[in-house]
Amino acid sequence: MIDLRSDTVTLPTAAMRQAIFEAVVGDDVYGADPTVNRLQELAAEMVGKEAAMLVPSGTMGNQIAVLTHCRPGTEVILEADSHIYYYEAAAASVFAGVQPRPLPGKRGSLPAALVEWAIREDDIHLPPTSLICLENTHNRAGGTVVPLEDMKAVYEVACRHNLPVHLDGARIFNASIASGVPVKDFIACATSVQFCLSKGLGAPVGSIIAGSFDFIDEARRWRKRLGGGMRQAGIFAAAGIVALETMVDRLAEDHANARFLANALAELKGIEFNPDDVDTNIVIVKPTSMSIQQLGDELEKRGILTVEIEPDRIRFTTNKDVNRSDIEKTITAVKEILDRA
Ligand SMILES: *Cc1c(COP(=O)(O)O)cnc(C)c1O
Repeated sequence: MIDLRSDTVTLPTAAMRQAIFEAVVGDDVYGADPTVNRLQELAAEMVGKEAAMLVPSGTMGNQIAVLTHCRPGTEVILEADSHIYYYEAAAASVFAGVQPRPLPGKRGSLPAALVEWAIREDDIHLPPTSLICLENTHNRAGGTVVPLEDMKAVYEVACRHNLPVHLDGARIFNASIASGVPVKDFIACATSVQFCLSKGLGAPVGSIIAGSFDFIDEARRWRKRLGGGMRQAGIFAAAGIVALETMVDRLAEDHANARFLANALAELKGIEFNPDDVDTNIVIVKPTSMSIQQLGDELEKRGILTVEIEPDRIRFTTNKDVNRSDIEKTITAVKEILDRA
């Protein structure tokens, strides 16, 4: 199988399995797992925040951030296609009791002027704004990199209004590798950040949230409340360390494969999309001569897995477990399917 459904499908590397085997562990609920502690210190250092905490998933990391920043009855400004709004089963409403305020972005980027316009005045009719969320890279926009200047502009607005910014940086290392902007520079535009170890970086489980010491102290209590306090979590934190130490730079290969795929698909009749929209490891296309179900099914018959992301659009996500020859096979398969239609 050539699995292009997501970068979450990546399997742990041999080095990760070795690190898992050798991991020195303890009870992390007591703060006594040396491998978890080492991962958290490394992560905080890499992203330029005071402290970091390991969480089981990106979703829990984002929700802990919302819970830590916001009181119930307040409003969270976010992008209308953002993961926190679109893909987290209304968790921010259910757990934090906040009202989302979705705003339309451009390639996933929220215009600072629009954000400023949406911040609530002090009026008893209105829910106070409590948080601004950004996402980089932006998943549903197609893995697009939100430019550093855009993030800076939103952060400047947030600071002026005394509001925190949470960055859903599930794929922030992809944004950094693709743009050449250091992750620390992106993350300096956010009060807190969540990023995934389990996507393109290849670890089997885990995300990190990072912020100030005070933020992480409170976040640790929320993690416990949600049942996310884990015992010998060093078992998978060990793979997270390998991910951060050895798997970041190779994301460039995934981006090159996505670029190669996009350029080839753009040449085909029966496919519509703008290859210039491909910044990182995600390629989203619209077939015009058949439904996405037909295209997806025909690809699956040839051993190629994709996902339907819109009623008329299909997504290919490159990752460390597909190589250039797999991409070439994918291009050939799409061409053959379209030629027959
Ligand atoms: C995958 C993803 C998440 C959630 O991560 P999980 O570990 O799957 O819960 C959050 N935000 C974005 C942008 C993502 O792509």
